[in-house]
Amino acid sequence: MKVLVINAGSSSIKYQLFEMPAATVLARGMVERIGSEQSGLSYHQAGQKGSRDVQAGDHQQAMGVILQALTDAQIGALHDIQEIAAVGHRVVHGGEEFTDSVKIDPDVLDSIERFADLAPLHNPPNLTGIRAAQQALPEAVQVACFDTAFHASIPKAAYLYGLPYEIYEQFRVRRYGFHGTSHRYVARRAAALLERDPAASNLITCHLGNGCSITAVKEGKSIDTSMGLTPLEGVVMGTRCGDLDPAIVFYLTDKGYSIEQLNEMCNKKSGLLGISGASNDMRNLVDLAEGGHERAKLAIDIFCYRIKKYIGTYTAVLGSVDAVVFTGGIGENSPLIREQVCSNLPQIGIEIDSKRNAGRSGEYLISAERSRVRVYVIATDEEAAIAADTYQFAR
Ligand code: AMP
Repeated sequence: MKVLVINAGSSSIKYQLFEMPAATVLARGMVERIGSEQSGLSYHQAGQKGSRDVQAGDHQQAMGVILQALTDAQIGALHDIQEIAAVGHRVVHGGEEFTDSVKIDPDVLDSIERFADLAPLHNPPNLTGIRAAQQALPEAVQVACFDTAFHASIPKAAYLYGLPYEIYEQFRVRRYGFHGTSHRYVARRAAALLERDPAASNLITCHLGNGCSITAVKEGKSIDTSMGLTPLEGVVMGTRCGDLDPAIVFYLTDKGYSIEQLNEMCNKKSGLLGISGASNDMRNLVDLAEGGHERAKLAIDIFCYRIKKYIGTYTAVLGSVDAVVFTGGIGENSPLIREQVCSNLPQIGIEIDSKRNAGRSGEYLISAERSRVRVYVIATDEEAAIAADTYQFAR
């Protein structure tokens, strides 16, 4: 069965076509700069990699570009788009309603629209992507997979903030958490590597990319995570500030900053970029720090320190930890960050083996033989997880 996975952003649609249940990737690519004069398609299909200019004035046209590429005489992976039996969509916010992936119906669409309030940058383009796919492939089963769903198991004591209870009742202000599909995927892979039932493994999963979140997984279920009502909370990220004293916002408002400026500052100008004054990209920061750039080094130090604090906190929350997992662009590719995050943690049973940590690709153990807690690098694959969920509905 052919399953198409769609990740629609505000100006791009990423796609991957899978043959299920083997999860073989038949094609993948992306339409970028949707709505601009110069939209582009990049693809990896039929053993060929390439890119070309395309016409994609809106998401509907971009979806047409993707389906045309999938059936193209030279690079196509399909003879006919009707071969696509199901489409799985990444949706960022599922509020309190969606605790798992769901088959999309008009009620589901209404709910996704309602939660746009909580994820204004993500849910509207996700919804546009769904509508475009429904129109282009009316016969295919459409499934929504939510970034928040894996965190639906977080208990109330961990998801409520110390605000008046009415704020939760009235506005549903609470911790939701994100990157759930990634945390769930690497948690299952880690259980497999540990040769344990997922329901019997306690893990701390660190998704470190441009956005970063840490999750405490107890007996296979998320019981706490660092991101909150929005993806702004938690560790320091590429351009997001992470945890703050909320009074800083009042203080800076008093100093003349508008709410819009603070929103922009905290989301787009803070984190690694704001501290270093140089870059939000960890590769650049590592190069700069090695060349003696003081603030690049400071940004890396703060980044690692905050992650270390979460690992300590979640060790206390879990009681016993079987493994720590690193994933995401930074987690999968930076031995230096992994080493610094895990330095001086033998008292909580975490010891890295420098040789093992030196880096390869895929899934591997990096903890020392004597380390009580195992430490793994596991390449995340959110698309494969979405394809697996979608396949379950379409079967
Ligand atoms: P993601 O959002 O998961 O694509 O991750 C993006 C982040 O991963 C960026 O900060 C990249 O600089 C970082 N990254 C990718 N490769 C490396 C690497 N070899 N060393 C350090 N950081 C990396």
